[in-house]
Amino acid sequence: AKKLGRNNYQFFTADLNVRARQRLEMENSLRLALDHREFLLHYQPLVELESGRIVGAEALLRWQHPEQGLVPPGEFIPLAEECGLIVPIGEWVLGEVCRQNKAWQDEGLTKLPVAVNLSPLQFRQRNLEEVIRRALSESGLAPEYLEIEITESLLMSAEEQTIALLYQLKNLGLNIAIDDFGTGYSSLSYLKLFPIDKLKIDRSFVRDVSSDPDDAAIISAIIAMAHRLRLRVLAEGVETIDQRNFLMLEGCNDAQGYHYSRPLPAEGMKTLLRKGQPL
Ligand code: C2E
Ligand code: CA
Ligand code: CA
Ligand code: CA
Repeated sequence: AKKLGRNNYQFFTADLNVRARQRLEMENSLRLALDHREFLLHYQPLVELESGRIVGAEALLRWQHPEQGLVPPGEFIPLAEECGLIVPIGEWVLGEVCRQNKAWQDEGLTKLPVAVNLSPLQFRQRNLEEVIRRALSESGLAPEYLEIEITESLLMSAEEQTIALLYQLKNLGLNIAIDDFGTGYSSLSYLKLFPIDKLKIDRSFVRDVSSDPDDAAIISAIIAMAHRLRLRVLAEGVETIDQRNFLMLEGCNDAQGYHYSRPLPAEGMKTLLRKGQPL
């Protein structure tokens, strides 16, 4: 048994070394990816439930890796956050979203806000407001067409600096949404402390809404609370007609999910914007 244990230990360290090396390789190629223009954005429409019309889009980052193909964000954003690369990557995202949205507007498409996910790490940079200002002025996009998505955890930590920054961004004219709402186990008091426009109900509550009465109750309560606070509410991860019907009945404003459309490359999103509605 002792011998076996030792062998296991050796396997374990060997495995660790392999993983450490893979990680390091990944980090190195991530460093080069910006210079090599390997990042791109997909866009997923945000749809008003009542009318079925597109009322915005969310930009979602992809990495076109030279060998591994299209890498989803879940596989590289955690690493990019650990090594700080999310800051320059996030800067690129802001610039690209403003540029793309302005290009769509210049082509005569209906003007709509496009949302960007911001990492908490970007909020710890003192120059975030300046970065956003520059993205707006270089593209010529009006601030009301840029939306930022932040997580509850950012608000829970609620340092003075974060609060001040959020007000600065609100004063610029941006829309502010709370992403993955309901997963943060937080007190809700921050909802009145911060200049928020929208709650995005996390996909995990939407998934079983048709079969799990507890999830249905949570969603109803979030929608009612949001409306009392004069916030707009969007449900993430809407995949079925049953989910859509429930949300519509509860008065949820908007929805996002595979039922309407998967995230699309910019060209595909443009076609949808022309039509005005995905279905
Ligand atoms: P998120 O902000 O919650 O984005 C929504 C995720 O749900 C996206 O995954 C989207 O493709 C997926 N999704 C949308 N509709 C459905 C549906 O009906 N069913 C299911 N199962 N999934 C759906 P994606 O694109 O893989 O992004 C994952 C996460 O990566 C995002 O979650 C966000 O937290 C992060 N992320 C993406 N782009 C950026 C970025 O530019 N910057 C930062 N900091 N984070 C980003
Ligand atoms: Ca998001
Ligand atoms: Ca989300
Ligand atoms: Ca989510």
